[in-house]
Amino acid sequence: MSNPPLPEEMNVYQNAEARFEVAAQKIGLEQGLYRYLKYPSKEITLYIPVGLDNGQLEVFTGYRVLHSSVRGPGKGGIRYAPDVSLDEVRALATWMTWKCAVVNIPFGGAKGGIICNPQKMSKGELERMTRRYTAELANWLGPEKDVPAPDVGTNEQTMAWVMDTYSMHTGQATTAVVTGKPIELGGSRGRKEATGRGVMMCCDKALAKTGIKRDGCRVIVQGFGNVGSMAAMLMHEAGYKIVGLSDIAGGLYNEKGFDVPKVIDWVYTQKKSLQEFPAGGTKLSSRDVLFQPCEIVIPAAIENQITEKNASQVQAKILCEGANGPTTWQADSIIDKKGIFTVPDILGNAGGVTVSYFEWVQDRQGFFWRESEVNERLHDFMDHAFDEVVRYAELHGVNNRIAAYMLAIDRVASALRLRGIYA
Ligand code: NAD
Repeated sequence: MSNPPLPEEMNVYQNAEARFEVAAQKIGLEQGLYRYLKYPSKEITLYIPVGLDNGQLEVFTGYRVLHSSVRGPGKGGIRYAPDVSLDEVRALATWMTWKCAVVNIPFGGAKGGIICNPQKMSKGELERMTRRYTAELANWLGPEKDVPAPDVGTNEQTMAWVMDTYSMHTGQATTAVVTGKPIELGGSRGRKEATGRGVMMCCDKALAKTGIKRDGCRVIVQGFGNVGSMAAMLMHEAGYKIVGLSDIAGGLYNEKGFDVPKVIDWVYTQKKSLQEFPAGGTKLSSRDVLFQPCEIVIPAAIENQITEKNASQVQAKILCEGANGPTTWQADSIIDKKGIFTVPDILGNAGGVTVSYFEWVQDRQGFFWRESEVNERLHDFMDHAFDEVVRYAELHGVNNRIAAYMLAIDRVASALRLRGIYA
């Protein structure tokens, strides 16, 4: 295998590749399979015309990348953000392949995105953009081909539009084309909380591994969207002490701990700024909150937050990644040297895709499960995946991140060997 140049620290695709290279070498992956798995299977760029409310016509750039369908249909979210790029979507699609393999669900990896600022667009503009994007991709998507889900900047409503547009094109109601839908349209109970719940399950397991007690254990969460707010709420209810919170506008640190349901009400019902939460403690930047005293730190916002420059400032004993790619490749060794127990993104946030899998199963069987059944099954998948990753780490003498990649690559490669290469 060739020795590639060191990745640029802020290029998420190069970061994903660097970990893949190390893990592929460790498992002795054959040269041919290495090449096959290194590159995505398909990439599409779309130029999406949208009539704006002011009468003007705007053209947005969007992407869909299918990294792998070796173990099943592509699976992965759609992101709406100003800094979406093909490299980012590629990295996220690749991570989805590994993530689905880590939790052992029958999906490959995919991801999509549109360069836009959803905060500055009306509901009508977002709907038209989503429908045109879906219509252009109608031949690529499908319950057996590629199944999108929400990601940063998209939500249940976006998924309802994707499902409706696809269904209009195929002439039949196809709920299983997308997950993360509203419950009324074939969504799963427990999906909204699933990623945050999976984060908590990993933290529970990491505590048991490191011998730290749960009651009063101090937790910092960066990002107060779907993943961050749900993780904070569920962990607060379970007895953890949430001492740090942040969103894009800034963060708060308070040793006394936050009453998280009240913060959720403040931000989501009263529509007020997180940083202005009454008696919220010390105001910090969104990123600085990660470096305050705590036992567990959960980056649950965006990529490239813990870097070579700041990793030495992390004070936590456990790093549990809710976001995709929050820690750069260069920061990994600094985190390792500090003895921080890491739950890597492809395990830490895999609760979301696991319940997306349950949603897809329920849509296809046309029979819906109780929330307790969803949570119980999620627990089984996360518990097993966590144990497998830690077992790989101990067996091969590598950190948990490389262990998770090794486990995933092993599973995808063995499926590929069985399928063979279609000439
Ligand atoms: P979201 O859009 O609901 O929330 C994102 C949060 O991050 C918001 O609070 C936002 O203010 C904050 N944020 C954005 N930019 C920031 C910045 N520069 N600094 C600090 N905070 C910032 O998104 P989400 O669905 O919660 O996803 C968060 C992360 O988790 C992403 O990396 C996503 O890929 C990953 N993820 C999400 C899911 C899911 O089920 N939603 C599943 C797996 C992984």
